[in-house]
Amino acid sequence: MSNSIIKSDVIILGAGINGSGIARELALSGRKVTVIDKATIGSGTSSKSSRLIHGGLRYLETMQFKLVHEALHDRQELLQIYPDLVKMKSFYIPIYKPSPRPAWMIRIGLKFYDLLSGRNRQHHSRIIPRKNFSIHAASFKTDGLKAVFHYYDAKTNDLKLTQKVARDAIDSGASFYENCSVHSIINNELNFVIQAKNAIFEAPILINATGPWIDEVNEKYSLPANYKIRKISGIHITLDGLLTQDLMFMQTKKKRIFFVIPEQENNQTIIGTTEREETDKIDEISINESDINYLIENINQYLKPGFKILRQNVKDSWIGVRPLIAEAENPTNLSREYELDLLKFGEATLLHIFGGKLTTYLSLARKVKQALYKKNGKAT
Ligand SMILES: Cc1cc2nc3c(=O)[nH]c(=O)nc-3n(C[C@H](O)[C@H](O)[C@H](O)COP(=O)(O)OP(=O)(O)OC[C@H]3O[C@@H](n4cnc5c(N)ncnc54)[C@H](O)[C@@H]3O)c2cc1C
Repeated sequence: MSNSIIKSDVIILGAGINGSGIARELALSGRKVTVIDKATIGSGTSSKSSRLIHGGLRYLETMQFKLVHEALHDRQELLQIYPDLVKMKSFYIPIYKPSPRPAWMIRIGLKFYDLLSGRNRQHHSRIIPRKNFSIHAASFKTDGLKAVFHYYDAKTNDLKLTQKVARDAIDSGASFYENCSVHSIINNELNFVIQAKNAIFEAPILINATGPWIDEVNEKYSLPANYKIRKISGIHITLDGLLTQDLMFMQTKKKRIFFVIPEQENNQTIIGTTEREETDKIDEISINESDINYLIENINQYLKPGFKILRQNVKDSWIGVRPLIAEAENPTNLSREYELDLLKFGEATLLHIFGGKLTTYLSLARKVKQALYKKNGKAT
């Protein structure tokens, strides 16, 4: 490529799950779409998640009903369209004495989750006899165990899912440019003209789907926006072998949630996640040793003596940054919902994607299409 001008209907910055999902949706409806990523497809937050395709049981506590309902709806659709990549799994919630949340509260939450997830009774929650818990989690203590709940949610491989969605977009005509750094973005009120590595891209619509990098991108290229994000990192650690047969939904003493996620296909167990507000630039954020210790300490309080985890048992770890819309004080209570921030400049349209979970990329992509092409297929 030698400084050729590549024209399209829409340019998307960022090839995470949201950028790739939007590219697929718009390409399927016949738009010429170009996706530019400074790194590779799915290499951002979309490969650093807990790999769950879920409504998010804990978001019921913060009354994010709209998000849970939408996510459960998307979960159902993803189970159907990507059955090899998105699979329903068994989850257990053991309640020990003293529990930061009473068993009745978990029970009500699960009933509500069942209701929001639809009529499929096969996947509804139930209480299981405490004596059966060891069959699923031989490494877990049984003393102090008050109740055990069982429910279903879905699991994926986040990177493979993002790559598959991007592949679908490419098969529908979208072009992806990886490792393509952007030098400048000019808005001439007709088009956005992007000067990037080895090429100039031009389109009347620019979608900023750069996840946690969004504020940095807006500042660097002087793109106006109505929202800002708070950068809340989360780490995961992995252990060799399977600590449990099924997924475990656990609580810390301070009411935070973490998951134990066995992956039979990789013969490993993932434990996560944490929450830490970050002020550094995204590319400079690294794992804090105290977060690794936090996960080890919290899982160890539930394990039988012979199964306790030591620091040297941690095989791998990774960190991702949630792009959460800045509003609440406590990071746990920050909304996981997303906002589409649409700005018009003459004939040119800029759309920022603020927030958005892996699970909800389908709904988000459809809303983007609606927001852009409400009237007679023309950009609004
Ligand atoms: C610890 C953790 C656990 C999570 N667990 C779950 C979960 O289990 N289930 C769930 O549904 N959600 C989960 N999430 C949320 C989910 O992972 C993210 O919300 C989602 O992946 C965001 O996708 P995205 O496409 O918006 O951003 P990203 O995947 O981060 O993509 C943004 C892309 O923009 C690119 N980019 C950045 N700057 C530029 C630039 N200047 N020019 C071009 N490209 C650029 C980056 O390289 C990147 O590829 C979790 C998040 C975290 C951090």
